[in-house]
Amino acid sequence: AKAQGGGGYVLFDRGMHEEALRRLDLELDLRRALEKEQFEAYYQPIVRVKDGRLTGFEALVRWNHPERGLISPAEFIPLAEENGLIVHIGRWMLRAACQQMRQWQLAFPRRPALTVSVNLSARQLLHPEVLAEIRRTLRETGLSPRHLKLEITESAMMENAERAIELLEALKRTRLKLMLDDFGTGYSSLSYLHRLPIDALKVDRSFVMHMHERAEDCSFVETIVDLAHKLGREVVCEGVELPEQAALLRSLGVEYAQGFLYSRPVTAAQAEMLIIEDAQR
Ligand code: C2E
Ligand code: CA
Ligand code: CA
Ligand code: CA
Repeated sequence: AKAQGGGGYVLFDRGMHEEALRRLDLELDLRRALEKEQFEAYYQPIVRVKDGRLTGFEALVRWNHPERGLISPAEFIPLAEENGLIVHIGRWMLRAACQQMRQWQLAFPRRPALTVSVNLSARQLLHPEVLAEIRRTLRETGLSPRHLKLEITESAMMENAERAIELLEALKRTRLKLMLDDFGTGYSSLSYLHRLPIDALKVDRSFVMHMHERAEDCSFVETIVDLAHKLGREVVCEGVELPEQAALLRSLGVEYAQGFLYSRPVTAAQAEMLIIEDAQR
């Protein structure tokens, strides 16, 4: 039922009823998707701004639904976050991404520096076993922690900041890299920024999108970059679609960029082709 002003409730209208059924359906399918191996890791290149060279990939989950086709994570991650399935999906993604990167490192020994970034949701971050699980996954896949980056959003961090800081410090001790994701979209992180043991900030796409046409957005990014650098952190800008945006990032001294300008998220096989192409440059 939909909440109404004054504490009253209205009954489902027909549209809402259908929407609720659709969600329920999706939830049931989501529960089966893991067993049926319907998830797939896609990979989006992260490049060094100054020369456009490949530095690694962000692993992004895709759901290959038997009837609905490829479903975007924007549609099912929030649902999985609500019902706790995200913990299982996240576990699967971490393992898939670590295995894949280890395999690439064996196949391309001349490119030992490539890294893989994996998204960690709020639920996963607060899971009591998360640290042990990450350590076990690294051990079992043989990937060195230096080649794994974990992306955590500001809002996930702020759900329980004290606990998050403790966990992040423990993660740092395993020598993997930590990224603060969707930076700029949260509220309170500025006051925490110097306390968070993170290696880099990922500036949200919403700020990068209009940089080339809105001076305020450009100043905003510039301020973040200066702040990050003063604190000894690196900067990644996501959602780079235009050469003009890339040129601005270069002039601001941003280290890394990600976006459709370089490549959309692609399958593992396509990502491998990108590694080969980059090695031939
Ligand atoms: P995110 O972590 O901010 O990931 C970046 C999103 O921006 C991806 O959407 C990517 O495809 C998209 N993107 C990258 N470059 C561009 C660009 O130049 N233009 C535009 N318009 N979009 C761009 P995607 O893959 O649909 O993922 C959406 C969100 O779902 C992610 O946002 C992340 O929050 C979540 N997500 C995806 N995979 C996972 C996962 O394995 N675990 C968790 N916990 N969350 C995930
Ligand atoms: Ca991310
Ligand atoms: Ca992001
Ligand atoms: Ca984002």
